[in-house]
Amino acid sequence: MKIICIGRNYAEHAKELKNELPTEPVFFMKPDTALLKEGVFYLPDFTTNLHHEIELVLKISKAGKYIEEQFAHKYFDEIGLGIDFTARDLQDICKAKGLPWEKAKAFDGSAPIGGFFKKEDLQKEIAFELKINGITKQVGNSKDLIFSFDKIIAYVSKFVSLKVGDLIFTGTPEGVGQVKIGDKLEGYLEGNKCLALDIK
Ligand code: MG
Repeated sequence: MKIICIGRNYAEHAKELKNELPTEPVFFMKPDTALLKEGVFYLPDFTTNLHHEIELVLKISKAGKYIEEQFAHKYFDEIGLGIDFTARDLQDICKAKGLPWEKAKAFDGSAPIGGFFKKEDLQKEIAFELKINGITKQVGNSKDLIFSFDKIIAYVSKFVSLKVGDLIFTGTPEGVGQVKIGDKLEGYLEGNKCLALDIK
């Protein structure tokens, strides 16, 4: 399986990192070794500024390529929460030099995920939240996506075939920030806690 991540998909987050609003989706990938299902993340020594990015995650349920937007909803059946961990210090260097982001985004454990919900059990506008040590840090809603789930699937599948089990991280809302050893992260989807992670 592969992990596809969309960047700059919420206007307020693009602004907080001083990025221009995209006119088409920005995407990058993480390898399967980035996936983390256990509840512990060990802070790597190559960064001094690891950022949390809470994101809605789509689970692909049907293989496809060049999927039309009007049929895209048939290609995912579950939605959950994940964190797109980002070594912001390394990413800033990569961005300044025009280099790829993998060092900053694709390292082991950089894609923790929680439980998934059937799409039909969720609202059309999906609210989500990240708390750290009990304090709300990020609040998002799928209605604020610049590119909808269906648009993302149509766009990405032009370039990359989607397979069953692939995950698409759909972008983070504003409020990203640093995590530190000892932090306890909790993700809530429509008020239900579905992700818990201790930073060690
Ligand atoms: Mg992200």
